[in-house]
Amino acid sequence: GAKNKGKNRFEFYSPKSEAVMAEKVKMDQAMRKAVEDDCKEFEVYFQPIMEFINGLPQCCGSEALVRWNSSEYGMVMPDKFISQAEQMRLINAIGEHVLLEAAKACKHWNDFGHPEYKVNVNLSVVQLSQNDFIEKLKNVLEVTSINPRNLTLEVTESLAINDMEWMVKILKAIRELGCRVALDDFGTGYSSLNHIRSMPIDTIKIDKAFVSEMDSDHFSEAFVKTISELADSLDVDVCVEGVEMDKQVDMIGKFSVNLAQGFFFDKPLSRGEFEKKYL
Ligand code: C2E
Ligand code: MG
Ligand code: MG
Ligand code: MG
Repeated sequence: GAKNKGKNRFEFYSPKSEAVMAEKVKMDQAMRKAVEDDCKEFEVYFQPIMEFINGLPQCCGSEALVRWNSSEYGMVMPDKFISQAEQMRLINAIGEHVLLEAAKACKHWNDFGHPEYKVNVNLSVVQLSQNDFIEKLKNVLEVTSINPRNLTLEVTESLAINDMEWMVKILKAIRELGCRVALDDFGTGYSSLNHIRSMPIDTIKIDKAFVSEMDSDHFSEAFVKTISELADSLDVDVCVEGVEMDKQVDMIGKFSVNLAQGFFFDKPLSRGEFEKKYL
C-alpha cells in the first residue's frame, strides 16, 4: 500500500483513493435518488430559539435544520451533504422541501396555541440565485397560508460578498413579501460591519465560535458585547448560537442580546419531539 512507499510521496493513483471515489459516486447517486423520490428521506428537525423575557428564556420558535435519513447511510448530517448537494444543484429541490415543511409546521403551531412561534430556514446562495426564487417563496406562503412575519430566511455573508447589489435586491424582495431576514454565522468568513449597514436584515446570529470562547477569550466577549450594542442601536435583533453552559447564559444576560439558541436549552428535535415539548 501507499504507506510502505515512504511518506513524502504524492500518490496520484492508489487503490484507496479509487475506493473513496467509488464511494463518493455511490453516495451522489443515492442523494440524487432521494431527491427524485420527493425528498422523503430529507427530514426537517427544529431547534428551539429562546427569547429572554424579563431575563427568563422562553421558546419563541425554532430553526429548521435538515437531516438526510438515508436507507443506506443512516442519519446524515448537513455538514456531510449540503455542499455536495450545492455542487450537484440538488440543493434547490432539498431547500424547497425544507422551506415547505418548515412553513407547514410553523403554521400548524401558530394555529394550535402558539400564534407567536416563528421558524427560521437556512438558504443556500444557489437557491437564492434562481431567477424564480421569489416566485417559489410566494408559492410557499400561499399554499401554507403562514403569516410571512413568522418566516425568517437565514443567509450567510460569505455569499453576499461577491455581488452586494444583487444580494440587497433579493433580500429586499424577501422582506417585501413580509418575511424576515437573518444574517447567519456572523463573525466568521467574510464578516464586515459594512454588511450590517448595507444589508436589509432583521436579525444577526452571532456564530457559536464566539459564544464558546466568551469566558476564556477577551476578544470573543468584547465581540458579542459590541455587536449586540450596535444591533440594539440599529433596532436589529441579536441571536447567539451554540449556548452550551449556564455561565454563557449569565454573560449574555448582561449584553443587549434578546435571542439565544444552543444545546443548553435544547438540541434540534424531530417535529414530533418538538411538538411534545413546546406545543
Ligand atoms: P447553522 O445554520 O449555523 O445551524 C446551527 C448548527 O449548530 C446546527 O448544526 C445545530 O445543530 C448546531 N448547534 C446548535 N446548538 C449548538 C450548541 O450548543 N453547540 C454546538 N456545537 N452546535 C450547536 P447542523 O444541524 O449540523 O447544521 C449545520 C449547518 O448546515 C447549519 O449551520 C447550516 O449552515 C447548514 N444547514 C442545515 N440545514 C440546512 C438547510 O435546510 N439548508 C441549507 N442550505 N443549509 C442547512
Ligand atoms: Mg442557520
Ligand atoms: Mg449559524
Ligand atoms: Mg452555518
